[in-house]
Amino acid sequence: MSYQEQDPKLWQAISQEQDRQQHNIELIASENIVSPAVRAAQGSVLTNKYSEGYPSKRYYGGNEYIDVVENLAIERAKTLFHAEYANVQPHSGSQANQAVYAAFLKPGDTILGMGLDSGGHLSHGAKVNFSGKLYEAYSYGLNPETELLDFDMIRELAKEVKPQMIVAGASAYSRIIDWQAFRDIADEVGAYLMVDMAHIAGLVAAGVHPNPVGIADVVTTTTHKTLRGPRGGLILSQEKYAKQINSAVFPGTQGGPLEHVVAGKAIALLEDAQPEFKDYAEQIVKNAQAMAAVFNASEHIRVVSGGTDNHLMTLDLTKTTLNGKQTQELLDSVMITTNKESIPNEPLSPFKTSGIRLGTPAITTRGFKEADAKRVAELIVTAVEHPEDDQVLDQVRADVRALTDAHPIDAYVAPIEFG
Ligand code: PLP
Repeated sequence: MSYQEQDPKLWQAISQEQDRQQHNIELIASENIVSPAVRAAQGSVLTNKYSEGYPSKRYYGGNEYIDVVENLAIERAKTLFHAEYANVQPHSGSQANQAVYAAFLKPGDTILGMGLDSGGHLSHGAKVNFSGKLYEAYSYGLNPETELLDFDMIRELAKEVKPQMIVAGASAYSRIIDWQAFRDIADEVGAYLMVDMAHIAGLVAAGVHPNPVGIADVVTTTTHKTLRGPRGGLILSQEKYAKQINSAVFPGTQGGPLEHVVAGKAIALLEDAQPEFKDYAEQIVKNAQAMAAVFNASEHIRVVSGGTDNHLMTLDLTKTTLNGKQTQELLDSVMITTNKESIPNEPLSPFKTSGIRLGTPAITTRGFKEADAKRVAELIVTAVEHPEDDQVLDQVRADVRALTDAHPIDAYVAPIEFG
């Protein structure tokens, strides 16, 4: 019996999702399209194995091949990011962050991270998250004039709240982050510096964004965003912190590692080290900048901070007739996938917002170049300016279809050969 016959409802949903991914222009900045090899690793027999512990120090028998897999992932992560130490076991970015806090802090200690409404992540101290419940969390925002990180403001706040750890990194910040400026502030107030480079890790791997490894005490990332691996987390640090981080991951906050995912990480990290990956990372930025130029030239849409140096941007929609939620829904109806996003000094609730966030990793993976990215931005402007004109929206849908047909996801193959 085929999988489809065994469970038709489930397989129908999977095939519908595949079709959606093929025919939608995916602009969610945290998403990407992995290679067939990464998918194959995740569907492999490694999912059957328990391997609590670390290579050569496992709790159960039969881990000789699992050790090879995990060691490959560790060594590739260390080489790619020039790190002394890597832990490839975190199940997600949030769990990587949880383990780092557990390794360096006690409950009740103070952390200072970027505010959720300014582009930070939930796990950087948001009140609704474990990080804001377990630790005394304070947040910095952006300079209201420049919409950029303002290190004078961050320094003042750090001196006032005296954090044990400063968290740098963001989910919606379109500019290069000056890691050394964070390091200097951390040193001034005697704090650890953790960098969460989840969004930009692929750009860092390719040398398109400065590397925080060697500047921060500890660096976390997801492996599924610009890095283009399986969904998961990764921690990079110095050898002197190896023991405390390892025990904070297992047994501190996780049980058995997902070695099928670790294998996917190993493959992605090998792909990330190829010259083609640098081309892809550079193209991500070119595509984002091509889109930002269209929005900045439009009458009603503005790019927060005026532009982008990386893979994403937030659009300020306050001069249009739509809020962020309405724009997200409008774009969904024309097969362009985005997410609503707060803008600096947001006047609306997080459920509505005045902005949307756009990112170029997924379209770049499927082969969009600057001209295609420019066309996508023009289609967004057209839709937002004519939200109730069915004829215009039908034309946008047709143009989206032409773009997605010209760049099939299936045509994307791993940039390296395995054999
Ligand atoms: N850190 C940052 C900066 C993120 O943007 C995200 C997710 O979007 C995470 C951590 C969390 O990753 P995960 O969804 O794997 O828990």
